[in-house]
This record gives sequence, C-alpha cells and structure tokens, in this order.
Amino acid sequence: MSQNYDDNNIFARILRGEIPAFKVYEDEQTLAFMDIMPQIRGHVLVIPKEAAVTVFELSAEASLACMQTVQKVGKAIVKALDAPGITLFQQNGAGIGQTVPHAHFHLLPCSVFALKGH
Ligand code: ADP
Repeated sequence: MSQNYDDNNIFARILRGEIPAFKVYEDEQTLAFMDIMPQIRGHVLVIPKEAAVTVFELSAEASLACMQTVQKVGKAIVKALDAPGITLFQQNGAGIGQTVPHAHFHLLPCSVFALKGH
C-alpha cells in the first residue's frame, strides 16, 4: 500500500508547530504527545517525523525510531501511573478507522478490553 501524503493533516501541523500539542517526548525522528480525546488517562500518541500515511510507507529507520520511542514512553507511562502494562494500538487505513492520515501509535495504559466500545 502506497498513499499520497496530505501535508495539511493535523499531525503534520503539530510537527510544524502550527497547532499546539501536549508534548511528552521528542527527538530528531519522533514526537510523543497526549491524545486530545483520550480513551483512558495516560493515552499517548507516538508519531514519526517522516511523512507517511501508514506504517507501510515508513522507512526502516523511522520504524525503528518509532519503536524505540514507544519503548521509552511506554515505560515512562507505566512508571508515572503505576499502570499494569501498555496496550500498543495502531491503525492503517481510513477503511478500518484511521482518522488522521499520518502514521501513529496509540499507547494505552490498560487492557484493550477496558477501552470504550468494548
Ligand atoms: P481514531 O480516531 O478512530 O482513534 P486513529 O487511529 O487515526 O483513529 O487515531 C487518531 C487519534 O488522534 C485519536 O485518538 C484522536 O483523539 C487523536 N487526535 C486527533 N487530533 C488530535 C490533536 N490535535 N491532538 C492530539 N490528538 C489528536
């Protein structure tokens, strides 16, 4: 799957500093920030700075960087909230519910079955 990247999607605008976000971690290749409509307290999103709609378009380097940030931020969430663990959730494709067309990873400090809609 290869898709055209829309430079005006909301996460691209956050990366450019055009709209605010509650940032919790940033490095050269990734950004982590609080989800604006959290499924649960501590719901964080990790995104690559690379322009990619889904993980299928992500370079190997950006994929590795995302996973390293997921590890760092996931451990920090567990520690900060004394959470029992982290559900890592990630959608690729508007057809299955991806609403923001910039690849992202949801970090949720709960069981997937505790989420709204389950
Ligand atoms: P869904 O909207 O079905 O959860 P996604 O996997 O595409 O699908 O998730 C997009 C996520 O981005 C949502 O959890 C949404 O709350 C979050 N979001 C949208 N806009 C912002 C924003 N400006 N700042 C932080 N999070 C946002």
